[in-house]
Amino acid sequence: MAKLHNLGFPRIGAQRELKFALEKYWAGSTDASTLLHCASQLRAQHWQWQAALDYVPVGDFSLYDQVLDMSFTLGHIPSRAAGDNALDSYFRVARGRAPGDDACCGVAAGEMTKWFNTNYHYIVPEFDKNTRFELNNERLLKQISEAKQQGLQPKPVIIGPITYLALGKSKDGSDPLALLPALLEAYKKLLTQFADQGIEWVQIDEPALVTDLNSAWVNAYELAYHQLKSVGIKKLLTSYFDRLGNNLQWVCELPVEGLHIDAINAASDITKLVDWLPAHTILSLGVIDGRNIWATDLQKTLDWLEPLQQKLGDRLWLAPSCSLLHVPVDTAAETTLDSEQLTWLSFARQKIEELTLLGQALNYGRDSIAASLNRNAEAVASRRQSKRIHKPAVKAAVDALTPQHSRRNSPFTQRIALQQASLKLPRFPTTTIGSFPQTPNIRKIRKDFKNGEVSESHYVKHMKAEIHACIQKQEALDIDVLVHGEAERNDMVEYFGEQLDGFLFTRFGWVQSYGSRCVKPPIIYGDISRPQAMTVKWAEYAQSLSQRPVKGMLTGPVTILNWSFVRDDQSRQTTCAQIALAIRDEVKDLERAHIRVIQIDEPAIREGLPLRQADRHRYLQWAVESFRIAASAVQDGTQIHTHMCYSDFNDIMAAIADLDADVITIETSRSDMELLQAFETFQYPNDIGPGVYDIHSPNIPTTAAMVSLLEKASRYLPAERLWVNPDCGLKTRSWDETVPALENMVAAAKQLRAMHQ
Ligand code: GLN
Ligand code: ZN
Repeated sequence: MAKLHNLGFPRIGAQRELKFALEKYWAGSTDASTLLHCASQLRAQHWQWQAALDYVPVGDFSLYDQVLDMSFTLGHIPSRAAGDNALDSYFRVARGRAPGDDACCGVAAGEMTKWFNTNYHYIVPEFDKNTRFELNNERLLKQISEAKQQGLQPKPVIIGPITYLALGKSKDGSDPLALLPALLEAYKKLLTQFADQGIEWVQIDEPALVTDLNSAWVNAYELAYHQLKSVGIKKLLTSYFDRLGNNLQWVCELPVEGLHIDAINAASDITKLVDWLPAHTILSLGVIDGRNIWATDLQKTLDWLEPLQQKLGDRLWLAPSCSLLHVPVDTAAETTLDSEQLTWLSFARQKIEELTLLGQALNYGRDSIAASLNRNAEAVASRRQSKRIHKPAVKAAVDALTPQHSRRNSPFTQRIALQQASLKLPRFPTTTIGSFPQTPNIRKIRKDFKNGEVSESHYVKHMKAEIHACIQKQEALDIDVLVHGEAERNDMVEYFGEQLDGFLFTRFGWVQSYGSRCVKPPIIYGDISRPQAMTVKWAEYAQSLSQRPVKGMLTGPVTILNWSFVRDDQSRQTTCAQIALAIRDEVKDLERAHIRVIQIDEPAIREGLPLRQADRHRYLQWAVESFRIAASAVQDGTQIHTHMCYSDFNDIMAAIADLDADVITIETSRSDMELLQAFETFQYPNDIGPGVYDIHSPNIPTTAAMVSLLEKASRYLPAERLWVNPDCGLKTRSWDETVPALENMVAAAKQLRAMHQ
């Protein structure tokens, strides 16, 4: 019999109950017991929805983050967060303070970074040579007993020791692997306690197995799992997000009772695993896509699973590819989607149902689920054929792309000369990244308009007033290249998705990004086209108010792709090219409307980077190509800007240069210009504005601080190529902060002009 299990369920709640409970608790309006009660109710509900599985995950639930939970289980928290109350310490690491703490006395929150190639952020464990571990298993033991009380078979979920070390950061330069012996002692105790509870299987997540590992890390894996072997509990070693690839052979030899792989992203591993795994090892295949929201093609999946079941018999287990943390909870809440669209989608609850159906078909024959198989086949056929999805004209336009489409007419040196002649900008030109403060008033008008509570003319009038005020403020500040301020935009991807064909939007399709923060990614379901211009009227209006150039402001194709759920029936590259063509048309329309500077934002370009080095080149190639398709239709004299932030770009500098944007504005001030190290070895060829104002902080930078950052920059980059701008858009800041900060920024540019006469 094929056994069914799940790696993890979204914990935020179908109605984001956890988010609201957390935020009330943090604000001090509810107490800890209310929060903990909400949490245990959510767990009970989520287990209920998974009750048909042979094993339910326990410990996947988290109040904030599963890596932080693991740190607590291991008794490894930064000493600055310590205190008598465990929950307080927990939130101090998570957010810098606990509800009762004095406003003055916060501590530095733990650093956050992306969980492998997902948009989920975890709290980075902090290591140094004095790091000690001391098991504290209360949380897991409690949850195990909760699940047992519900009559379910619990399978505790923990992060494996090697991935845990790989996720952390050494604070003193010491090698985290040196901590392994001490760490393994804690893991042994942990597993022993599970065994004492009568637990049969423990899920040990080791997603680091799908990354490039050097011999020190390979040895660490071997050492760790040989040491843990002595504990009498069955271990399911879990990998996901990518293939084991060149790690596969030695992974097969690790002494564990089961291995899980992501059968969606590591399909190429399956044949080898079937041949190489020891004769008694369980192979758990993640056959339901845990990273995307499309209904599984059940028949197609059974077609390849059935022969495997013949070979593996009881050794075959089924699960989603990874934790369902990365998808929303339930399509049933999506009352605004039509019945056809709904059949295409599958959120966490639906994925558990699909898994159950697959298990039934394998164990009792396809006939036992005939009706469900038919319904599923209809949904699959509708996605394959629907005219709402497939637009021959869009496909033809992508097929007709030639290298010409991604090339500007002339090289940068020629273009910039023409641009300088027409724009007549001073040296060290000043600009901003696009958005200006989004006041409560702006948000209200936008919301009222969306809800049909105010007329379009009322809305347009108010937006124009905002644009007008924004242009006046920038002129008063003496900024050189202006922006319209993006008052009409709620979100830089949603704004474009809503105006393009091929996107759909959910009401409750929330996915946890970090802590209580969730995002609601748009869903790209069909071929993408642009029924009409999206930004031209606002840009034209803004430009009509000033003699100075006003930048047209667009989101780039790669960012739109990387921040959406993307269709799985064609390559990401093809979908990205379709978006690029739509943006290209918008760029042309802006140029026709006499907008002389156009910015195409690509903050998320690095987020699509594959985990394996060997795959990165290909991704960067088509990502860069997509940007260039969007950007290259203009005359030489039209200046193309791009903007990047949120990540460290040092290792993809060559690809960034390949974008061939005339100007890039890029986040650097937050890291004190760490980026500039990349320019010691790499000569960035075009104009560049390293951000000098950290917009994530309420602090107002002084002129002197910004001059010094720019001086630092001019050591690596020619002064005539440098722009002066903030790190990112200003929409989260207030005008009170923005005006003085930009005054100082403009003053800094003027000082530099004087110094570099
Ligand atoms: N133009 C956008 C803004 O200013 C860019 C946002 C971003 O880079 N995340 O808000
Ligand atoms: Zn930005």
